[in-house]
Amino acid sequence: MTSGHETHTHGTPARVFLKKGRDRSLRRFHPWIFSGAVERIEGDAGPGAFAEVFSHDGERLGLGQLSPASQIMVRMLAFGEDPVFSCQASVADAIEARKTLPGLCDTDALRLVNAESDGLPGVVIDRYGDYAVCQFNTAGAEVLKNEIVAALLDSIDLKGIYERSDTDGRRREGLEPVSRKLVGEDIPELLEIHENGARYLVDVRNGHKTGFYLDQRDNREIVGSMAAGKETLNVFSYTGGFGVSALARGAASVTNIDISESALGLARKNAELNGFGGGACEYIAGNAFEVLRKFRDSRRSFDLIVLDPPKFAETKGGILGAARGYKDINLLAMKLLRPGGILATFSCSGAMTPELFGKVVAEAAADARCDLTAMRHLRQAGDHPETVFFPEGAYLKGLLLWKRR
Ligand code: SAH
Repeated sequence: MTSGHETHTHGTPARVFLKKGRDRSLRRFHPWIFSGAVERIEGDAGPGAFAEVFSHDGERLGLGQLSPASQIMVRMLAFGEDPVFSCQASVADAIEARKTLPGLCDTDALRLVNAESDGLPGVVIDRYGDYAVCQFNTAGAEVLKNEIVAALLDSIDLKGIYERSDTDGRRREGLEPVSRKLVGEDIPELLEIHENGARYLVDVRNGHKTGFYLDQRDNREIVGSMAAGKETLNVFSYTGGFGVSALARGAASVTNIDISESALGLARKNAELNGFGGGACEYIAGNAFEVLRKFRDSRRSFDLIVLDPPKFAETKGGILGAARGYKDINLLAMKLLRPGGILATFSCSGAMTPELFGKVVAEAAADARCDLTAMRHLRQAGDHPETVFFPEGAYLKGLLLWKRR
């Protein structure tokens, strides 16, 4: 496989003309064009086709790719009158940027390419040791796949590359879900990664996302740093990342709750891999809302609680229902928190703004009569960057709360 320096747009690109006055966001480097902003398309408008984008007055604004089946009809690759886009350069730049990440702990698992925020819409590449796991979530990303894989192999040494393109985003684009080896050696069933002295097993084929919540790396570190001697509750634990980090820093115990038996099974393996078995660890398979209610009724309490629920809202439309869910689960957790305790609470719904999340948490605290102080605002790790032009890229938000008394 070869990759030229500049990506070839495979024939004449289509021409997308915007409606009058609908060019503002593009001039501010926002990478999405919604179908409602498009007046007409000339030329090949097939899935993933390259497209030059013009204002209503015919000014050239950049180069993108078409997703005819999506509300986001065009995703931009480059801006301006003379847009230059190269897969090779984008992948290489993204990898280079990871070398200077501030505060990155010692780890061999890292997001190398974070979609729009690295100039490659729909493309996610996570590195797990000697392997990479990719997602190609849009029609445009699908077209660029071979070039991106070639660029990746040019930039780093890998034993193999696996594709986990079985996402909802991809389904929304009318693309087939795919989960398969792309290049090189078969990825082990459970791949071991290392982070800040801890070891974790990752199930790349069946796990969430590409297998592990790399975006919580910094927060695992923060929670761990506060865990010594603490009775810890890890709600929505998945494979136990926060719990292992807490145990590694001397937590007295960790109770993991998750609805998925298989996630808990791996959480147990992860704890054992790090030398923590037996009485210090508890695993409860069940609906967190019900389990926390039972804990409340039986007056269980904890010094440190992590609350990292799944995305309750997929879209802005679902945000009210989601806010209720976030409020309920936070309220329950607050009731289990001992005086002087710490609650690390998160939302990974992109549609939930930090302001709204703060309000929901405040409402829960008021109802729980819990005097909480935000010691720190939390966010996704730096290998999941967002450009200043793309606030949608900042999806993970959290608060580190201290219960005064
Ligand atoms: N904190 C984890 C990631 C959490 S992802 C980490 O750092 O790795 C959200 C988790 O919530 C998933 O593992 C999912 O199985 C679980 N989940 C979803 N709905 C749930 C519910 N109602 N009760 C308990 N767990 C639930």
